[in-house]
Amino acid sequence: MYDTTQQNRLLELTRKLLRTDTLPETAHTADELREVINYHDWRYYVLSEPVITDYEYDKLFSFLKQLEGKHPEWQTPDSPTQRVARGLTEEFTPVPHLVSMLSLENSYNEADLYDFDRRVKEFIRHETPEYCIEPKFDGSSIALIYENDRLVRAATRGDGIMGDDITNNAMALSSIPLRAAFSKYGIYRVEIRGEVIIQRHIFEKMNEERRARGEKVYQNARNTASGSLRTKDPNETRARHLEAIMYHISYAEDPQGNDLLASRLTTHYQCVQILHDCGFKTPLRELRVCRSVSELQDVIHEWNERRHTFPIDTDGMVIKVNSLRHQQVCGSTAHHPRWAIAYKFAARQAHSKLLKVEFQVGRTGAITPVAKIEPVFLSGVTISSISLHNEDFIREKDIKINDTVIVERAGEVIPYIVGVVEALRDGSQVEIEFPRNCPSCNSALVKPAGEAVWRCDNADCPAQTEERLIHFVSKDAMDIEGCGKETIASFIQLGLLKSIEDLYRLPYEHIRKLEGWKDKSVSNLKNGIEESKKRPLWRLLHALGIRHVGVTTSKDVAAHIQSIFDLERMSIEQLMAIEGIGPKVAQSIYDFFHQPANIRLLHELKKLGVNTENKPEHTAAKNNKLQGKTFLFTGTLKNFTRARAKQLVEENGGRLLSSVSANLNYLVVGEDAGSKLAKAQKIPSIQIISEEEFLQMIS
Ligand SMILES: [Zn+2]
Repeated sequence: MYDTTQQNRLLELTRKLLRTDTLPETAHTADELREVINYHDWRYYVLSEPVITDYEYDKLFSFLKQLEGKHPEWQTPDSPTQRVARGLTEEFTPVPHLVSMLSLENSYNEADLYDFDRRVKEFIRHETPEYCIEPKFDGSSIALIYENDRLVRAATRGDGIMGDDITNNAMALSSIPLRAAFSKYGIYRVEIRGEVIIQRHIFEKMNEERRARGEKVYQNARNTASGSLRTKDPNETRARHLEAIMYHISYAEDPQGNDLLASRLTTHYQCVQILHDCGFKTPLRELRVCRSVSELQDVIHEWNERRHTFPIDTDGMVIKVNSLRHQQVCGSTAHHPRWAIAYKFAARQAHSKLLKVEFQVGRTGAITPVAKIEPVFLSGVTISSISLHNEDFIREKDIKINDTVIVERAGEVIPYIVGVVEALRDGSQVEIEFPRNCPSCNSALVKPAGEAVWRCDNADCPAQTEERLIHFVSKDAMDIEGCGKETIASFIQLGLLKSIEDLYRLPYEHIRKLEGWKDKSVSNLKNGIEESKKRPLWRLLHALGIRHVGVTTSKDVAAHIQSIFDLERMSIEQLMAIEGIGPKVAQSIYDFFHQPANIRLLHELKKLGVNTENKPEHTAAKNNKLQGKTFLFTGTLKNFTRARAKQLVEENGGRLLSSVSANLNYLVVGEDAGSKLAKAQKIPSIQIISEEEFLQMIS
């Protein structure tokens, strides 16, 4: 990136700028400061070899900030001061990738590698393939776009086609240059891919600090990295010491729009060299070029050991065909490129002893057995409890208390009991007694035919109430900030919370006097709860914790109702008329809204100020002629298109439904109307009108 001559000049310049406390107030000085700060960022974040102290760096940075503050006209968009200056991200907008981010096919053994090699050779016919092999970093994928050498966009992987725009957060990562000299290679526009990671020692330190503050420790580095990339505050992202390692050029064009991956650029290795030279952190030092499967195996064996001491978590190796021309010949399936494969290291297993089994009550009353084991350290985390799923799982694996169990964790978050080592049984093993009564409220447990899970049916079961409350306040539900698991557990213990509606009757004056509460945390809690009263209807529906009703179903249902109480009157057939709702879900919703306790809860919530109505989130209504009325169009319309019809309804304050149900007020019938008309004729409350009558309503 910087050759020796450049580095000497920049070091000389650094010394000059640091020599005095009063720098000349000129645009030129601002340029000089930006240049040296970028250089020191690269030394620090990419090479990990800083040549000035943090104090000196801070001094340069604050000089620049002062200058740019006084003379905003001197500030440039790619100035290092802009890394966190853009403020909070309200929402991560979905954006399309220039080239789909396909996932790699996984392989687990050497036979898979020979298979891969054979397939590649079939594609490229008589030529001998060359492979690049590099460690597979266990982080969060990211795609960056540079135009005219400037970072213009950063996105998460998302579903591979669309990712979330996280540009502001990516700018906060000092290992991502805001300006990179791609133009040196004739590249005007480029999309590059990589992984955002947290080094293992930094991750451990973060957890140590959290433990010391009594906070919950993070599960693993990968999830923490991806979570940190998506916090709404770029400062927060910066504080978590994320690093981006870029390892792939997925798209490159010159100023005329020519595809450079099909012309000037020839190998993957060359692409990584370019990234390295443009100032990115890359796996160039770890990258090996191999000409045979046996050479690849040597590298894999080396890394199978080396990964334990390597500062970044790796869960395997990535093997890519080196020649870009060969890559193109191989092409991709709908899911994977055919020119690359991931080799996964074998899952790590450990032995431990099953000490006891605890039975947890979920929010729907399901009883889950949880194994408490002697703590074992596996793939970077200490494991002391593992879900045993259900009674069948225990019987099938013949797991007993005091058994030696084999615990596995394959890069995934959730550890798993593979089985028991029968040879190590010493006669002290005892059967796991599955309770017949709820461990929380002692009600008799029931197991519906065809289900594997025992449940507690008591609606007032305290353990269920706790889980229901935790679900109610969670991010995907009512999203109540300042009210976590621990808060709920302690409020229940103190008798402040006995049910969901109690959340809206909390005695704040009393809480203020409790240990561990300050004015600030009480007001955060209060704000969070007050804010939640205004949430859209689907959130309340999801928060109720109805079985089988997740976020998507909640949104589907909410779009078809005016008020949550509409669901009290809807039949199973009407519910099933909603797109996406099957018989199981419909039955579950029906059951929920036919339990008097649930309806009482909803009336109580409404009285306490919680939104139970479907309020349009943005009202573009020009007038209110159709306010509160619902419409559906069927048949061939002669006066307007469907899109225009929808627009007319909305502009006049009405709402469009997508199917015939009891909530429909007007069915507007065009020519050749079919099943919808027949269906609507059976529901007396629906008025069937013509296009002309509809037009009269809005004229
Ligand atoms: Zn119970």
